[in-house]
Amino acid sequence: MNCLFCKIAKGEVPAEIIYEDEKFLVFKDIHPKAPIHLLIVPKKHIPSINHLELRDKELMGELFLLSQKIAREKEVAKKGYKLVLNVGRGGGQLIDHLHLHLLAGWTPPTHHPSEKERNIPGMP
Ligand code: 5GP
Ligand code: ZN
Repeated sequence: MNCLFCKIAKGEVPAEIIYEDEKFLVFKDIHPKAPIHLLIVPKKHIPSINHLELRDKELMGELFLLSQKIAREKEVAKKGYKLVLNVGRGGGQLIDHLHLHLLAGWTPPTHHPSEKERNIPGMP
């Protein structure tokens, strides 16, 4: 399948992987929109939230629990972070393999991200 994130999961395309287990991969976004910009990606090829099936419900729960763990490990859990899921072209999704953006690291910690920092590619 000609899917970039499947290729990254198979090791066919390089990425700065910071976490991997049987079901998930976490790597740095190639065009970071925040000081910390990670993509949390289930290895299973699900094109988008629109394609979720009932049998994926456990996987989706695990996705959010993993985002919590990564946020703790990156020491941004207390300061706060953003989780973004783009769905379809109109929702800014460019890669048709479900992924959760974790964005964080703005300083000072109480700072509200500027419009520019908040801007996710393709977001209206
Ligand atoms: P989407 O717009 O689909 O929600 O997010 C796709 C993200 O993948 C974008 O933020 C984009 O910068 C990132 N991206 C696109 N190509 C690559 C790549 O080859 N490697 C990595 N690490 N990230 C990529
Ligand atoms: Zn894929």
